[in-house]
Amino acid sequence: MEWNDPVSILKGVGEQREKKMNKLGIFTLEDLLTHYPREYKDRSRLTKICQLEMDIESTFIARCKASGETIRHGRFTFTRLRVGDDSGEIGLIWYNQPYMKTALKVGESYLFTGKLQNKYGKKEFAVSEWERIGDHFAGGRIVPVYPSVEGLSQKMLRGLMEDALSQLSGGLSEDMPLWLRKENHLAERNFSIEQIHFPNTEESFYEARRRLVFEEFFILQGALFSLKSYLEHGDKGIVMKKKKTLKDFQKHLPFQLTGAQQKVLWELEKDMSTGKQMNRLVQGDVGSGKTAVAMAASYWVIQNGYQSVLMAPTEVLAQQHYHSFSAIFGSLGLETVLLTGGQSAKEKRTNLQKVALGQANMVIGTHAVIQKGVEYHKLGLAITDEQHRFGVRQRGALNQKGEDPHTLVMTATPIPRTLALILYGDLDVSIIDELPPGRQKIDTMAVTSNYHERIYNFIEKQVHEGRQAYVICPMIEENEKLEVQSVLNYTEELQHKLHGCNVQCVHGKMKPKEKQEIMDAFANGAIHVLVSTTVIEVGINVPNAVIMLIENAERFGLAQLHQLRGRVGRGSEKSYCVLVSDAKTKIAKQRLKALVDSEDGFVISEMDLKLRGPGEFFGTRQHGLPELKIANIYQDMPVLIEAQKAADKLLKMDPFLTQEAHQGLKAKFDQFLEGKSLEI
Ligand code: ADP
Ligand code: MG
Repeated sequence: MEWNDPVSILKGVGEQREKKMNKLGIFTLEDLLTHYPREYKDRSRLTKICQLEMDIESTFIARCKASGETIRHGRFTFTRLRVGDDSGEIGLIWYNQPYMKTALKVGESYLFTGKLQNKYGKKEFAVSEWERIGDHFAGGRIVPVYPSVEGLSQKMLRGLMEDALSQLSGGLSEDMPLWLRKENHLAERNFSIEQIHFPNTEESFYEARRRLVFEEFFILQGALFSLKSYLEHGDKGIVMKKKKTLKDFQKHLPFQLTGAQQKVLWELEKDMSTGKQMNRLVQGDVGSGKTAVAMAASYWVIQNGYQSVLMAPTEVLAQQHYHSFSAIFGSLGLETVLLTGGQSAKEKRTNLQKVALGQANMVIGTHAVIQKGVEYHKLGLAITDEQHRFGVRQRGALNQKGEDPHTLVMTATPIPRTLALILYGDLDVSIIDELPPGRQKIDTMAVTSNYHERIYNFIEKQVHEGRQAYVICPMIEENEKLEVQSVLNYTEELQHKLHGCNVQCVHGKMKPKEKQEIMDAFANGAIHVLVSTTVIEVGINVPNAVIMLIENAERFGLAQLHQLRGRVGRGSEKSYCVLVSDAKTKIAKQRLKALVDSEDGFVISEMDLKLRGPGEFFGTRQHGLPELKIANIYQDMPVLIEAQKAADKLLKMDPFLTQEAHQGLKAKFDQFLEGKSLEI
């Protein structure tokens, strides 16, 4: 068997099971073995039956004394069975697993994990997990617990891991060169993969984990550094003269630039006027006015006799930018052209010609702007909008058009500053940390479900005054059917409770047309209260909606809650965001408080990272950041710094990775750069 064989090569993985595994992102044996445990349970200490304590999870080995029996109580079943060891006997109980009646063989020994309880008038041991004691059983152990989906039990996953490990054992190639492992005290690969799943001791677990965390950071950093060594052209940036810049362009805008926009423009001016090649990231919440910044920068570059290009991730966005740019540039006698995949051949040819001859001052488009055959006359500035949607390679390609144009990357994703600085320390970051004036502050409150009555009254009152509301039900993880059901149920409940309100819902299982009808009806006010999960349309803009009610708020990422909240406060009326949560943990309360206290996407994302750990932070997937499988940026910061240093050393030593010993790493870096779409 090979590392990249499909999982279906394993015994017991048929089509059904394979599909479930695919859902977890597991396609190959490599994916399987890098599907790391979420936590571990220490089953290494075995108890005796006579030592079992009430309500404490314990594990013991016992022999099955008699076959089981199942009793039905309405919708429930109870299956009971007696087992014993040399210290005594105990009755086991399983709920709603009638097959347990015959699953165990009388006279054989098994390992049982669960809790002793006293529920139905007698002491019984409620079994959460059991396993047969095979010939190779060497006592209890530390067992892994994996992230999973319905229908894939821990036991099954564990079995598959064991199988894959024993098939591949010792045969995993080691990509980290020896010098690197020695210098950084890294454990060997086979050992690390084995021990991360089934650690023999706590120490071997830490050793294994450190190696894997290091490797993950190392590949991330190494890949980015290697890309840089290809792209770096040194300090030969085009010098833009400081004439007709900010003040001049301001006259042509229908609004006054905010202080934050001006500050960022000054930073761009400084970069582009000094002979340095600009490589800057501009971050700003949705609506902070990044387009105006791109426009002002382009205007200045054009005044200097150069062209500017803006690449957007979708046609719709490109169109939108094209309209806003041509509206203003057109009145100044500057020509803006659009390049997209959807254009006719003739249209494209005309536009390409304009770009090549320099007739076009401003070029806007999708990734069509970096395609072969697009020749720029004199490119001075390359702007990428919503960068996280593009791969690293695409950004590189835009960079290489023309002769060392300045580059500007714009993103709405508020990556915490700390994170940006760590991951992309060399890149300059500007932040638009202020919204244009006149936006409504949204009153945010976090309450428990005791407040439902009051909230419903409030919604009713707002609707009677002519306003509308959103209600977000929690997502139900991994189960779309249940999710739809919960939305439908909640909608029905609200239809009863909210008098005189038209309550409707949208959910993921609806046909696009049906969904569109509901959204339109909400947009034109026919529907007063819209119930949905977070799949609520991204571009939705209903200024009359003033309430955002979010149920089970603790289940959402802070960044996600912030985005949801951003759907209200778009009109002139006062808006509210109500976060309902009965979560009692301190962290959950702190997280919601962060949202109540701040409307600043950066502050919130920073908090999110701190309070949840990047595992979950990245897990929200909205960030486009690389998903780390095992490393945690906050907790593993020291390892990150070591890995960063090591990657730097490697690329100084062998910038294009031509040495034999570095071929494995080169392949890993390439794989990383091909596959991932990075924020930067
Ligand atoms: P984003 O940062 O999300 O790309 P946009 O650039 O699309 O935001 O700007 C959002 C809206 O705010 C646009 O309608 C734009 O015209 C407006 N806007 C931008 N800057 C200002 C400003 N300084 N004052 C008032 N309105 C502004
Ligand atoms: Mg934008």
